[in-house]
Amino acid sequence: MNRFFLSLSCLACIFSCSSSTYAKDKHYTVMISLDGCRWDYPEWHDMPFMDYMAENGVKSGLIPSFPSKTFPNHYTLVTGLYPDHHGIVANTFLDISTGETFSLSKPEQKMNPLYYGGEPIWLTAKRQGLRTSVFYWPGSDVAINGDRPSLFYYYDQKPRLTLKERMDGIVDQLTLPDDERPDLILAYMEQPDANGHNFGPQSKQTRSAIHEVDSLLNDLYLRIKQLPIGNKVNLIVVSDHGMAWVDTPCNISIADKLKTDWIIDSQGNIPENIYVKEGYADSVYNALKDLPHARVWRKKDVPSYLHYGSCSRIGDIIVLPDIGYIVYDDELSQGSGQHGYDPTLSDMQAVFRAVGPDFEHIALPHFPNVNVYGLLCRLLDIQPAPYDGSIDEIKAIFKQ
Ligand code: AMP
Ligand code: ZN
Ligand code: ZN
Repeated sequence: MNRFFLSLSCLACIFSCSSSTYAKDKHYTVMISLDGCRWDYPEWHDMPFMDYMAENGVKSGLIPSFPSKTFPNHYTLVTGLYPDHHGIVANTFLDISTGETFSLSKPEQKMNPLYYGGEPIWLTAKRQGLRTSVFYWPGSDVAINGDRPSLFYYYDQKPRLTLKERMDGIVDQLTLPDDERPDLILAYMEQPDANGHNFGPQSKQTRSAIHEVDSLLNDLYLRIKQLPIGNKVNLIVVSDHGMAWVDTPCNISIADKLKTDWIIDSQGNIPENIYVKEGYADSVYNALKDLPHARVWRKKDVPSYLHYGSCSRIGDIIVLPDIGYIVYDDELSQGSGQHGYDPTLSDMQAVFRAVGPDFEHIALPHFPNVNVYGLLCRLLDIQPAPYDGSIDEIKAIFKQ
């Protein structure tokens, strides 16, 4: 038995022995997102801390919302709304009403509260008298409904905190006096998404990023457990989506099938949203409908299980490539990992683990990520705003 397991199993004993003393005490919640962490990375790449969480808490996976991209899904995790309902319908999209393009690389658009519908958990919690602290979660630095988390950091402000500094920050905040300590802490980590894109999900570089985040989480947990409130902290690890292998020749070219005077704009490539000039929807649809390795829909015909098609920011025609393909008009020059595909595909599903005083030891089938907002509200003992999910199908994870 290595030191890792030894130290954790001793702690597990100490805290299970004393947990009943604190059963009715206030609990704290820490939720960390590992961007692009497939549900099966712990099996592929060895993640001893994820295994520890599974052995002592909840092991499951998350079914992302469509499209399985970073911004739509992180905002779904904290609002419980499908992207079609919260309005961040992709990482990049055209807003016909403003004529502007929302994009992660356009701060003036990304920071505009206009795009962010629903009520993120930090506002639900704040409205009900709780303190929240958020490290870089998408949307947390935006003045949604004119307000932000009690503590937050601007993603675009450099230097950005390292992953380790974010972990140190969580411990520091849990160490604050009772009347200053956040009830909920959220943190976003860019890995293993970055290496997953650049080198592919099976690569040694992705494996090493996974080992790094797993080990950071292990250290975080050990440090939390040593705090006086250590046994009152629930730790949840989630991800926004998985990562599929996409090799260089797998691009689907569409520009040669379309006339430029049919189109207002097109955004994204998994899926691609095509905004069409009035009267040309049939022309675009007919030109693309037999595209190999892709499904092509008019907005109103997107299958209902994808919950995508009512928001005005979605294109008139949507092209969703099959897994392993990408809508791209030039040959891809680099990268071996992609996501954005149909969330029901196993390759797109994301890790979920939870351990702490409010969680059972249980393994659960993968569940839709619109349920996570309700899960957080239940842990914090607050009333959720209206949302698309439910905690009914996951209630077995909670200790009664
Ligand atoms: P994706 O293209 O879906 O893989 O998105 C992942 C990218 O989102 C990463 O490169 C992150 O740097 C970026 N990202 C995450 N949070 C933010 C943010 N708040 N602002 C801008 N970019 C972000
Ligand atoms: Zn992501
Ligand atoms: Zn990504």
